[in-house]
Amino acid sequence: MANTLGIIKPDAVRRRLVGRIIQRIEQEGLILRGMKVQRLSPEQARRFYAVHENKPFYKSLVDFMTSGPVVLMVIGGHRSIERWRDLMGATDPAKAKYNTIRREFGTSIERNVVHGSDSPETARFEVGFFFRDDEILPKE
Ligand code: UDP
Ligand code: MG
Repeated sequence: MANTLGIIKPDAVRRRLVGRIIQRIEQEGLILRGMKVQRLSPEQARRFYAVHENKPFYKSLVDFMTSGPVVLMVIGGHRSIERWRDLMGATDPAKAKYNTIRREFGTSIERNVVHGSDSPETARFEVGFFFRDDEILPKE
């Protein structure tokens, strides 16, 4: 029953897709345990994506992720990590399955609308990166 971190990226906030993305999360039966709207600083974005610092897309990714506000979400529920990744779809929207959020709304491999933690270790790190314990609803 671990929590995972979800981010609605600046492209989606700019396009006013926040409501539709949260609707998908609710329809899937996942649980919102924390949420905030924030504009990431370059330092935060660089640290958050530090695992990618040697990738060719790193600088562009940091610029994109700091280009406007994001919605940060703590998402819970049974198998939340896998279920949120499945609902998001593959990194490249063109390769993502039909009915996934990235397939429906993503416009490029970079501007792919949402983020989700990819393992229990990553989820623990990423949730803690943005949320204090007292900002997360306890499990019922
Ligand atoms: N990304 C990119 N170009 C690539 C691969 C990834 O711009 O070739 C961006 C994209 O926004 C992606 C993020 O970097 O969501 C992190 O990449 P990762 O491989 O971790 O994909 P994810 O876990 O988000 O599916
Ligand atoms: Mg990733």
